[in-house]
Amino acid sequence: MMNIKRKYKKEIKLLTDACRRLGELGYVTSSGGNLSIRVEDNLILITPTKTPKRFMTVDDICAIDLEGNTVYAPEGKKPTGETPFHARIMRMRPDVKTIVHAHPPVITGFAVAHSDILAKAILPEPIIEVGPMLNVKYATPLSDELSENFDSVITKSNAFLMENHGCLLCSFTDVMNTVEQMQMMEAMAQSVVVAKILGNVELLSDKHIGELEDVIKVRNLKIPGYEQNSLHDIY
Ligand SMILES: [Zn+2]
Repeated sequence: MMNIKRKYKKEIKLLTDACRRLGELGYVTSSGGNLSIRVEDNLILITPTKTPKRFMTVDDICAIDLEGNTVYAPEGKKPTGETPFHARIMRMRPDVKTIVHAHPPVITGFAVAHSDILAKAILPEPIIEVGPMLNVKYATPLSDELSENFDSVITKSNAFLMENHGCLLCSFTDVMNTVEQMQMMEAMAQSVVVAKILGNVELLSDKHIGELEDVIKVRNLKIPGYEQNSLHDIY
């Protein structure tokens, strides 16, 4: 099992750095939040349970397979209790390389309000890089029900608002970039709060959305979600 630590030293370091960054940003408190990276078709590096992200070290990281079985855990550590939704999403989304689940305070406010406004066409960069933030119904943390609640939306975007809980982003990019994307979504949520105070949230038109699809093609990016053909199908 030490093989995993040696073979994926770089990825383990990256995952640890991403945990600390999430802690610095204030998107996770205490031992909240969890992250994973797919390193082989059937091997996923994942954060341990009961370990504050700010103090994560390379010696804490665990590994699971696609069924959620523990492949490796350092002594005294266990993979996050949210392993079921990480494994399920990795199974349903073979394109996904990283998953980041956290509780950014402003996004979580929208999750408490059961608002669906973050799924609308608000700002160009989140549309191009992440996709609509789709609501996932509340279920008790760590439950199979919570992971099953992702099923109806998981192919339609890369961002999910977990009602009365927080959010989850999945990505085909590296984990630090996924944290950056979460920062972009939290900034958008803050801007929506300001727009609501000012009294008006104007959305982009279908024509503008079509033009953003052209940008995605020019920049050689993918339409958010899994095997989606057009932004018009998801916005
Ligand atoms: Zn959580």
